[in-house]
Amino acid sequence: SREIHLASRPDGWPVDGNFRLTEVPVPELQDGQVLVRNTAMSVDPYMRGRMNDVKSYVPPFQLDQPLDGGAVGEVIESRSDAHKPGDTVLHGLGWRDYAVLDGARARTIDTALAPASAYLGALGLTGLTAYAGLTKVAEFKEGDAVFVSGAAGAVGSLVGQIAKALGASRVIGSAGSAKKVERLRELGFDAAFNYHDAPVKDQLQEAAGEQGIDVYFDNVGGDHLEAAISELNKYGRIAMCGAISQYNTTDKPTGPRNLALAIGKELTLRGFIASSYNQYADEFAALMAGWLRDGQVSYDETFVDGLENAPQAFIDLMKGANKGKMVVRLA
Ligand code: NDP
Repeated sequence: SREIHLASRPDGWPVDGNFRLTEVPVPELQDGQVLVRNTAMSVDPYMRGRMNDVKSYVPPFQLDQPLDGGAVGEVIESRSDAHKPGDTVLHGLGWRDYAVLDGARARTIDTALAPASAYLGALGLTGLTAYAGLTKVAEFKEGDAVFVSGAAGAVGSLVGQIAKALGASRVIGSAGSAKKVERLRELGFDAAFNYHDAPVKDQLQEAAGEQGIDVYFDNVGGDHLEAAISELNKYGRIAMCGAISQYNTTDKPTGPRNLALAIGKELTLRGFIASSYNQYADEFAALMAGWLRDGQVSYDETFVDGLENAPQAFIDLMKGANKGKMVVRLA
């Protein structure tokens, strides 16, 4: 079996040399364990933080040890009552061909509802991040005007569509290319702009118009966050989901320089971690199944093939190569 190890910690942007493909024997199954042949795995921006040797809400990856993360696959062998060979399961041991884990840590998924890869994205933690961030953290309510950054990405594209499905008066998205902006319009965003074209502040102001915005779902941080603070209406709310503009820079973080506006506008800025909202997973799953069925929400996936290409897929994800969820398919 092959797995990908962290060979060295990236300084700024990760490079291929930070990763190593390694051959390892598949361990004997213990009582209660299952052997899973992984068919797809997730690469996510948060993994970049785990490559640094710093304390965070998830422990850092260890040097010369396999990386891990969301994966789906087929149970090949089982010594657990929870699973039988042939089951399709979701679990946390990606970045390897075969995973051996406790049966209780693998969840059987319903591939009649959606292909397995969807459980890495729209029907998984990505979807819950979008839903909980919008409705619980930013306390979205019908009629709100919403701005979301990273809008063509996995989380962002769902945020915009969920907001529409829940009755947003206006949804604005920003993304990094003309193609992505076009895609946002197809997905039903009322306005969208390419943040490379002109300062975010100017483009957001134009897109928001007189109405302004009530909610900002922040995936990016920096100048996007600063622009949103300027544009938010009184009692506006910000769900601080991510700050990808700062994950790979070695420069001092930028902005927001206008945070004091939050006082007079009585803004709420609230950070969150999706896993703290697991109690809404069932509520979300039921809503999402309905939205997918009715076509109110659709999800994009960008596939890269081969475990050996997972490091590059991860690097490319942070450079914007993906539309929707970046998924690595394993042989
Ligand atoms: P995405 O699918 O959105 O992929 C990342 C995207 O970020 C890229 O496609 C790229 O799109 C964009 N990007 C990269 N650099 C910049 C930049 N400097 N400025 C603006 N955009 C940039 O990933 P996810 O949907 O998985 O994650 C989105 C955000 O949500 C991340 O910040 C992530 O850390 C966060 N997150 C937080 C969670 C939580 O629990 N709090 C859970 C899951 C995700 P483009 O071409 O538009 O630049």
